[in-house]
Amino acid sequence: MSRCALIVLVAGAAQAQPYLRTRALSNTGDSNLCVTWGVRKVTYRMDGAGSARTPVEAEFTAVDNAFSTWQQLARGCSDFEFIRGPRITDAKVGKGTGDDNVITFREENCRDVVPISDACQADGSCGNKHKCWEHSDSTIALTTSTYSTRTGVVFDSDIEFNAGKSADGARFLFTTISSPPCAEGMESPFCTAYDIQNTATHEIGHLVGFDHVSDPMSTMAPTAALGDLAKRAIDPGTASGFCGTYPRGKPPVPCDELAQLKNRITARNTGTLGCSCTGTPGLVAWLALALLGRRSRRR
Ligand SMILES: [Zn+2]
Repeated sequence: MSRCALIVLVAGAAQAQPYLRTRALSNTGDSNLCVTWGVRKVTYRMDGAGSARTPVEAEFTAVDNAFSTWQQLARGCSDFEFIRGPRITDAKVGKGTGDDNVITFREENCRDVVPISDACQADGSCGNKHKCWEHSDSTIALTTSTYSTRTGVVFDSDIEFNAGKSADGARFLFTTISSPPCAEGMESPFCTAYDIQNTATHEIGHLVGFDHVSDPMSTMAPTAALGDLAKRAIDPGTASGFCGTYPRGKPPVPCDELAQLKNRITARNTGTLGCSCTGTPGLVAWLALALLGRRSRRR
């Protein structure tokens, strides 16, 4: 192979950017740590209220299916285990709330249910206090991970679905069936609108420490259109990131400069191991988000 061909290969690999680990932030700013689980058994708990507009119990099955997809991947390369815990009531997001790794549908927007004088407005606790969505209208779902700013080790990671009304009165309709895709403005439970399994598979990617990538075919692409099902499957790039981070029988691979260098050398054909920055300094980081705005289009 000519030298030129090799350069082309490396450049192509860098562009592909198959996965990005979520960079931890320290109290002083950027760090070389990545948000990573220290344990290999992670128990998730669904809020028993489920999704009010999804028929029967299909939403629970859809979320279980998303975890099963990750579990299938893990069986081939890792000892990571996703364990379904008992359903809970009134799931609270964030560490120290008593509920670890919850999945909850926020059926109301906080602007519609929280009195303007409520003290929760000042400290960001309205979502838990009033069971409401307190994030952007255009965000379909959000994963909040709590980690040590000293080590990057995750203590807790919670997933919220935005089922509340946006400012214009519209809502994301969460569905579970695989076809046909809903036409815009004609969303119903009998077509695919915003698929729960699709959304959950993406959010679990955040839960295990991965950030958005620009590749629109990736599970970790930041947006999803009405009817999107592609993220139900874990793409090869994201899969390689997971397997490389949580190798069976070995400690998680740290996200420091040395690890990045090593990965660049050993995984040149699949791209580099990068870290990206999201969230704010402090114990709780708001990890960005499936930004699948009903108004936003695929690029
Ligand atoms: Zn996301």
